[in-house]
Amino acid sequence: MRTLSVRNPRTGARQKTIGAYNAQDIQPVVHKLRAAQKSWQSRSMPERGEVLLKFAATIEAHRDPIAAALEVDTGRRRISRIEADGVARSLQGWVQQVPGLLPEGWTPGRSQPHLRHAPHFVPFGCVGVISPWNFPLTLSMIDTIPALLAGASVVIKPSEVTPRFVEPLRRAVADAGLEDVLAVITGDGATGAALIDQVDAICFTGSVATGRKVAAAAAARMIPAFLELGGKDPLIVTASANLDHASEAAFRGSVLSTGQACQSIERIYVHDSIADDLVARLTAKARAARLKWPDIGAGDLGPIIFERQATSLTDHISDALSKGAQCVAGGEIEHHGSGLCLRPTVLTNVDHSMKVMTEETFGPILPVMTYSSIDDAIALANDTEFGLSAAVFAGTLDEADAIGRRIDASGISLNDAALTGKFYEAEKHSFKLSGMGGGGKGPAGLQRFLRRKTLIANTAAPAPLAAYAEDAS
Ligand code: NAD
Repeated sequence: MRTLSVRNPRTGARQKTIGAYNAQDIQPVVHKLRAAQKSWQSRSMPERGEVLLKFAATIEAHRDPIAAALEVDTGRRRISRIEADGVARSLQGWVQQVPGLLPEGWTPGRSQPHLRHAPHFVPFGCVGVISPWNFPLTLSMIDTIPALLAGASVVIKPSEVTPRFVEPLRRAVADAGLEDVLAVITGDGATGAALIDQVDAICFTGSVATGRKVAAAAAARMIPAFLELGGKDPLIVTASANLDHASEAAFRGSVLSTGQACQSIERIYVHDSIADDLVARLTAKARAARLKWPDIGAGDLGPIIFERQATSLTDHISDALSKGAQCVAGGEIEHHGSGLCLRPTVLTNVDHSMKVMTEETFGPILPVMTYSSIDDAIALANDTEFGLSAAVFAGTLDEADAIGRRIDASGISLNDAALTGKFYEAEKHSFKLSGMGGGGKGPAGLQRFLRRKTLIANTAAPAPLAAYAEDAS
């Protein structure tokens, strides 16, 4: 097994190493899971739900070491605890939904009532889950939970950038008695690629560039790929919006988690009559925001988790400035304790010739562009190759709703921003390059892991061949 070093984003230190599983290391893991999956599949969904409730309890029991590991890898204390608590709640929420997750029972045929049919669901034997570094635990579990509940076994391959939570998570898995059907392996992109070669379906959350490779590898093996990828989420603020609320939501939605969230607001379109007021409010908030340095227990913005991300943030800012944008707050990568930070950065005079308005930024940057007609604003919001989520702030919910329905994206927050990061109950399917195959929420999120059979029963005598004879009456 190869080894990889892991960087601490606050200190820059590389004092931790992990093993990187190769194909031959993955093989026995998948073999063991496949063997145990047969009996997991044979249990009823409520019985599997009981085990998942135990898993929720063991996550709660191991919450402190899991959150502590996430804290080191992400430089976030409160959100690390929210991640651990959120996974326990998500397990409980899925189990509560069990009675309504699958259709069942016989349905008489429409034109031939003596023929009736019933569904039967067969889970994939082994599902692979590959996750990114920005919410290491949440995004490792978002597909894993419904896959397990559906009766599949699962191998998780988290990001090599943030793998410290794997050890305490494995202890929670073992204490719940789930280790026969749930394995967590460590490694990099080569590990992820080798995993795709050995599983029956693959769930991937990450960048569009890697998503394309995952989709191609899955297509070559003819296995389904469920992809949740990048975004360039717009926020439209209309002339009638409450600016106290709109500026609060825009700011939080753009800089929470240092902007390292797929549902972050990445572009703001504001009606020109209120643009100066909105920019002034965002600028004041940007200047008042505190870095979580030197005390991780205080402040608003942590470090840039993945150091290469800093290069891309600098590139987006300098590209915008070179094309005429103005920076009214933030704008410079800062070095603190060998960690890299960026204060909230507000850019004005931006347009769609700039990378900051067209490519995923994944940082605390708020480019603000004005519009004069709502049709223009919607056209600008839709002028993107992404379609993950979006937000609208308007004077009334009805006004926001009418605009939101015209935006080509899968999760639309009305009179708030980035709500898809707070609310996990609604099904949605990413548009354009932001994803493929449906997401992990609601009944459809579980049904992805089941092959649907149909049983067709004849309650009358079978038809004889003579019924089809050319001269039959
Ligand atoms: P990434 O694509 O670089 O890596 C994601 C995972 O893929 C990692 O575990 C990595 O080891 C693995 N990987 C790399 N090459 C691979 C290959 N050839 N085959 C299989 N696996 C491979 O993404 P990242 O930088 O870790 O995460 C940031 C990206 O994730 C952003 O684009 C962000 O928008 C996206 N994201 C999307 C969502 C969503 O729900 N849509 C959520 C969070 C993050």
